Amino acid sequence: MNSAINILWFKRDLRLTDHRPLIQAIADGKPLLLLYIFEPELLADPHYAMRHWRFVWQSLEDLNQQLAPLNAKIQIAQGEALETLQQIYQRHPIVSIFSHEEIGLQLTFDRDLRIKAWCESEGIQWHESPCGGVIRAARDRRGWQRNWDRQIKRALLPAPTKAINSVQVNMTPYSPPPEWLEHHSAFQHGGERAAHHCLKSFFKERGQPYYKHISSPMLSRKSCSRLSPYLAWGNLSLAQAYNAAKNHAGQGEWERSMRAFRSRLHWHCHFMQKFESETSMQIRSMNAGYAEFPWRTDAQVNRDLERWKHGQTGVPLVDACMRALNATGYINFRMRAMLVSFLCHYLKIDWRLGAEHLASRFLDFEPGIHYPQMQMQAGVTGIHTLRIYNPTKQAQEQKQVDQFIQRWVPELSALPEQLRLTPWELTPMERLMLDSPLEYPEPIVDLQQAAKEARDLFWGWREREAVKLDGERILARHVMR
Ligand SMILES: Cc1cc2nc3c(=O)[nH]c(=O)nc-3n(C[C@H](O)[C@H](O)[C@H](O)COP(=O)(O)OP(=O)(O)OC[C@H]3O[C@@H](n4cnc5c(N)ncnc54)[C@H](O)[C@@H]3O)c2cc1C
Repeated sequence: MNSAINILWFKRDLRLTDHRPLIQAIADGKPLLLLYIFEPELLADPHYAMRHWRFVWQSLEDLNQQLAPLNAKIQIAQGEALETLQQIYQRHPIVSIFSHEEIGLQLTFDRDLRIKAWCESEGIQWHESPCGGVIRAARDRRGWQRNWDRQIKRALLPAPTKAINSVQVNMTPYSPPPEWLEHHSAFQHGGERAAHHCLKSFFKERGQPYYKHISSPMLSRKSCSRLSPYLAWGNLSLAQAYNAAKNHAGQGEWERSMRAFRSRLHWHCHFMQKFESETSMQIRSMNAGYAEFPWRTDAQVNRDLERWKHGQTGVPLVDACMRALNATGYINFRMRAMLVSFLCHYLKIDWRLGAEHLASRFLDFEPGIHYPQMQMQAGVTGIHTLRIYNPTKQAQEQKQVDQFIQRWVPELSALPEQLRLTPWELTPMERLMLDSPLEYPEPIVDLQQAAKEARDLFWGWREREAVKLDGERILARHVMR
């Protein structure tokens, strides 16, 4: 029989610095298998797309380059997690598994329950460290802020610097699909070192006008931190991002931006906590009063959904945002909210039909932020202010929208500037005078009429007794009093 080992199971925590399970596993001293598992069940899940796995692959390559001088390497397996662990166990007694808690989809929650049961039956210790400021199985928000402060405002843990007692086990080497190896300059590159590069550039220069540019689809691409994929895949811990912001000695514009940035790091965990406490948010509206909400069910729903997904709604800002997201994996918060509002309020399409598409496009897909945000923007929580975003007004209010629309909806470039936001106002005469025919669809809905209908429907529904009643339950469970 081979000697007993410990396993460090990398999940959404692909870094070496500020990694508590890694430090604990090394300190334990037993031969250590550093393991990442590509799980077919997850690879096939519609929330995920090639862009995510490419990012993970880039992150693993980066870690292995950093680990080489420490005589260590992450072994990469493909298989369902439980089966993979069982196969390893057949040849190597496993004493302990170290990992972070995962605030994931129902799929990974169920998988972790199976693994927990197996560990218990085999006498294997599974040591899980908390994920940021999220409390596992919290019943309400009592003590939540204190815990957040303790987990996030603390000294960072150093990366290992000495050789690791690392082992490899007998396993078929994993070879990634060729597309994962291709570099795509439109997408952020995965990896701990890329994350630090992004962090440094934000605090050195990009972040100064952060609070001013945060809602502009064009300017936010540079002035927002762009740390979200690195936080979502764990190339960076939340404590690292918070520390960097806290230590930034800026004044004036910088100070205001840093305050806004720090509050968003707080929201990060706040939303994830909601999902952790109520995973059913993935499949049903959080507020039970919306169970019977009259979403559209007509024969055109699928056609309209496809137009929304592909940026073909005929509403320039909506289409530009979706196309930018599809092509680059990123769009800023305000525009994400507008895309959901357009789907749910203007098209009256059930938020559940758009959730997987957006998840598969966001390079930073983080289930615990995504689902609570989807529901909040769709207006089905019954506790938040209902925001029905007018896409034309958004386009008029945000900075550099014209450049953004010209970049992503080039069909409109031939129009005079004032009509690029509202091409439906083009008169038949103006249309005739264009050099070439306008290849852009008519708007999918009459915006004014759809907004009015949405206001009547959503505000009216909110007044229902069932919505108010469940709203009370939600406040008691998810809100700090
Ligand atoms: C419908 C919808 C879905 C979303 N899905 C995701 C998702 O899957 N993953 C994700 O990371 N963010 C999600 N967000 C939140 C937000 O849009 C992104 O975090 C942000 O745009 C990422 O860009 P940034 O890193 O430059 O953010 P910055 O503005 O620089 O913020 C720094 C960090 O704070 C956190 N953060 C910022 N805004 C929010 C917010 N509103 N709620 C919670 N955390 C926030 C993120 O971790 C972000 O990286 C979603 C928002 C909406 C409206």
